[in-house]
Amino acid sequence: MAEIRIDHVWKTFGKVVAVKDVTLTVEDREFVILLGPSGCGKTTLLRCISGLEQVDRGTIFIGGRNVTNLPPRRRGIAMVFQSYAVFPHMTVFDNIAFGLRMKKLPKPEIERRVRDAAALMHIEELLDRYPAQLSGGQRQRVAVARAIAVQSEVLLMDEPLSNLDALLRLEMRAELKRLFTELETTVVYVTHDQVEAMSMGDRIAVMRDGEILQFDTPVRVYDYPADRFIGGFIGNPPMNFLMAEVTDGRVLVHGTAVEVPAPVRSRLQAGPVLVGIRAENIELSPEQDEGAIPARVLVVEPLGSHNLVTASVEADMVKVTTPADMRLRPDQAVWLRFVPEKVRWFDAESGRALPVDYEAVEAAGHVG
Ligand code: ATP
Repeated sequence: MAEIRIDHVWKTFGKVVAVKDVTLTVEDREFVILLGPSGCGKTTLLRCISGLEQVDRGTIFIGGRNVTNLPPRRRGIAMVFQSYAVFPHMTVFDNIAFGLRMKKLPKPEIERRVRDAAALMHIEELLDRYPAQLSGGQRQRVAVARAIAVQSEVLLMDEPLSNLDALLRLEMRAELKRLFTELETTVVYVTHDQVEAMSMGDRIAVMRDGEILQFDTPVRVYDYPADRFIGGFIGNPPMNFLMAEVTDGRVLVHGTAVEVPAPVRSRLQAGPVLVGIRAENIELSPEQDEGAIPARVLVVEPLGSHNLVTASVEADMVKVTTPADMRLRPDQAVWLRFVPEKVRWFDAESGRALPVDYEAVEAAGHVG
């Protein structure tokens, strides 16, 4: 059992609050991603878990053991860093064996574990080579193999793919995902790449300014962002946000009334409200459509399977996906209809999600 429980942890550097009252439980064998923009405190939180950083306040438990004041080597963890230092003067075999020799394991056990880790990472045939004779991706695999050979129950990884080119990242992403399923290790993985987070993690903890804003499955973070920042950070293109006005029980987006599902209505107060909608949840029509929002095409980007259209609704820009065969030209007048149960509702001032019961919205269908 290697559940990680982080309880009200704080870490400051002088005046900078790098980790601010974080409480988070990573289940045994779960793959959790810490995601957020540069400087949000991801690495610091990971270093607190590893013991490389002492927390100011709060407690950290690994496998039920309070490790808050233990040094890294007594926490039962293995780590892979962004700058995956492999020792240049050692062969791949010796690099992978390094941690095991430090632990003074018997020779046959070291041999077995090195070969197993190398097999998992598909680098068995490279064991006699030196790092200088490897590609960047192969070196990266050696670093991961070294960490998994230790067979700790917890693996901490800090942007392990950031030094690779795009194609290799794609390949390694899938490989690591397969690997963690096989190894049954608890993994905490830091990245600022939202695609990596979406595609790899069981759950994502989205961080900003030292705090965890949302901790949920990738699909839920994508579909139900807890605030505007998350909707704008996750997904490509980001979620569209438009300011709307609630008057007399109607919601007007730039003067056009949009359909509002019944469970949402009770949550809306007169005044401004922020409306969020993903590109794929907007229906675009080149024909005038009563009740749809008039817009104008700015740019059409053909992406093969579909087109990505940027349209202007007065001063707002809206991204819409359209079928690949729909012909549109810049400056053309179009009409946009938001799929009512896919609209997300946010407080106009704070940008926080309104407490709407979206399950009830889905169940109710789009009754206007
Ligand atoms: P990145 O993706 O750029 O690595 P991050 O989310 O991992 O960013 P951290 O490295 O955890 O962010 O840094 C969080 C904040 O703490 C930043 O403002 C950073 O400048 C500060 N910080 C981190 N380590 C130290 C340190 N040793 N001394 C002083 N300030 C630090």
